[in-house]
Amino acid sequence: MPSRPTLFRGTLIPMTVLSRAECAALDAADPLADLRAEFALPDGVIYLDGNSLGALPRRTSERVRDTIERQWGERLIRSWNEAGWWDLPTTLGDRLARLLGAAPGQVAVCDSTSVNLFKVLTAALRMRPGRTAVVAESGSFPTDLYIAEGVAGAVGGVDRRLVSDASELPGALGDDVAVVLLNHVDYRTGRLHDMAAVTRLIHDHGALAVWDLCHSAGALPIELDACGVDFAVGCGYKYLNGGPGAPAFVYAAARHLGAVEQPLSGWWGHAEPFAFETGYAPAPGIRRFLTGSQPIIGGTALAASLDVWDRVDMTALRAKSLALTDLFMRRAEQAGLDTVTPREPERRGSQVALRVRTGDPGDGYAIVQALIDRDVIGDFRAPDIMRFGFTPLYLRYVDVWDAADALTDVLTTEPWKDDRYTTRNPIT
Ligand SMILES: *Cc1c(COP(=O)(O)O)cnc(C)c1O
Repeated sequence: MPSRPTLFRGTLIPMTVLSRAECAALDAADPLADLRAEFALPDGVIYLDGNSLGALPRRTSERVRDTIERQWGERLIRSWNEAGWWDLPTTLGDRLARLLGAAPGQVAVCDSTSVNLFKVLTAALRMRPGRTAVVAESGSFPTDLYIAEGVAGAVGGVDRRLVSDASELPGALGDDVAVVLLNHVDYRTGRLHDMAAVTRLIHDHGALAVWDLCHSAGALPIELDACGVDFAVGCGYKYLNGGPGAPAFVYAAARHLGAVEQPLSGWWGHAEPFAFETGYAPAPGIRRFLTGSQPIIGGTALAASLDVWDRVDMTALRAKSLALTDLFMRRAEQAGLDTVTPREPERRGSQVALRVRTGDPGDGYAIVQALIDRDVIGDFRAPDIMRFGFTPLYLRYVDVWDAADALTDVLTTEPWKDDRYTTRNPIT
């Protein structure tokens, strides 16, 4: 039987799993176990990269086929009114809102994370006239830094200021700071920020808080409203399983929606797009964050995935995620690797970052390639991180055990030293 579970914030986490048989017992008792059947996973593959591109829900193909063949093919333009196409950004947003801890009317599904970041950063700057700095962590996902740079250039007189870590925020939050942009879970290390405390700190200094949820949406329960967050963005194709290039989402707190102005003032965010007026007047509510026509086929795939999410208890998801990552970290350490991801449950997301203890840090790339050849799929983030995502909807405890076995074997027998693994592909 599994060892005694630990109580963490009201959820039971089975700790110190010691054998494959214990993993099988945990799978048998797993309240999320049924959800695995919702995914079309290739036989024999252990997929530890759902934090980069989520797996395909079985129901997606049929739904997308219906959108293409019936809604588009037969009903043609009538589907904008008949098939929920027009409202798709907000109907999807309201469904997603439960996972984000947001009341309805504050989330829209549209564009990419990068584009939505441009909108909310610029909007936030306009809400703090006289303040000219955007603060971000230097280890943020690069697009966040690039977009902040783009915003600084487009708005003019704006300074992009980097801190190496959120712990430096108290010193960096002068009265010239308009907005702070943070990644909720660090894409490399898996470190999780305390959203409530950091948002409070930002507000105490009169600035606005923008959170990028790309690695936390669908990975853990989020409480945007309760934390008093101002704006948030995130993508649909990682833990949310919306498919490659799925539309992203944007959240704006209801208290801002009356007055906020976003810069990409396209017709789709207009109060009356089909009045074809010459001047821009923003739509009331979250629709004002839209810019142009939404991708209906991509949105349909995300809708199918949300059918699965509608059944997910986020507390159970978090408990399983912490147990899976704990198990993998322990076994990776036994195999001789260093864990970069914080061990404290309240400080990590749903991914594990590992590093070689000795030798060339870049060896991690070849180790991951050799693992992929054994059907254990993770990825590598330069310069030295072997990264593994844990998606409780379709991963079993035995998968994690078997993945750790494969990792141990690769480290012991060293097939990764072969040239075919050390040569880098463009996408790592
Ligand atoms: C994946 C990711 C993005 C992706 O941005 P897109 O514009 O949707 O490609 C942005 N931010 C973070 C933190 C990410 O992890």
